Amino acid sequence: MPIIEVTDLQKQYPLPENKSEKFYAVNGVSLAIAQGEIFGILGPNGAGKTTTLEMLEGLNDIDGGVATIDGISVNENPYKVKQVIGVQLQANEYFDNINLEELLSLFAALYNSTIDPMTLLAKVQLEEKARAKPASLSGGQKQRFSIACALVNDPKVLFLDEPTTGLDPQAKRNLWELVQDLNASGMAIVLTTHNMEEAEQLCNRIAIMDHGKIIAEGTPQELILEHAPEPPEAPLHGDLEDVFLVLTGHGLRE
Ligand code: ADP
Repeated sequence: MPIIEVTDLQKQYPLPENKSEKFYAVNGVSLAIAQGEIFGILGPNGAGKTTTLEMLEGLNDIDGGVATIDGISVNENPYKVKQVIGVQLQANEYFDNINLEELLSLFAALYNSTIDPMTLLAKVQLEEKARAKPASLSGGQKQRFSIACALVNDPKVLFLDEPTTGLDPQAKRNLWELVQDLNASGMAIVLTTHNMEEAEQLCNRIAIMDHGKIIAEGTPQELILEHAPEPPEAPLHGDLEDVFLVLTGHGLRE
């Protein structure tokens, strides 16, 4: 059974130019994501990726359709769903007088979790930063710390919204490795990205969204085979003599 099952998910928002009318920001999205998959949602700005994730995370009301995570209905039981998911938010602001270890202890207490903060910091390669304040971290370290925060409840599913946007190439690769490590322990990971290389390298399967709908879905290989244009014809080589030879079986100058 898939760990995430989504059928005909919908969300409407008022039209920016005419607030009395609505449009579908998410218009009938259906997905089945298996435990242990890294699933990528790709699409241009405004496609509905974040809104889809927010509904699955219980952070935004579902207007239509149904979603279950680990057999729990997101429509009926969004609070229970929060116990089995981890959510890394795009922008994280932390209390700045508290160091990383203390912050993780605080989050763990909020979740009634007994997880050891230092074990979590080790998992995201930030043990040596245990006494640092969040403001002193680099972009990549901040992203890894926000993933550590999302792991305090030992989730079965981790949601990452554009986890590598703005990171330098090395920090991006470190983050990919972290995602792969977490996934190797069986966690399902759902991420949004604009980065095609990231989608191709990291994701087992991808859904491409546009205008609130999924317009293509499959493994990166399947999508390339099905939708990428044919490679250009091989450049011409040889000359008319070759043509003559092939057609007649003997050369002009014989
Ligand atoms: P993506 O994550 O793919 O960039 P979003 O899910 O953020 O797309 O947005 C989908 C559409 O919904 C966009 O047109 C966006 O402007 C609109 N939208 C998102 N959030 C709101 C909101 N709270 N109120 C009104 N419109 C919104």
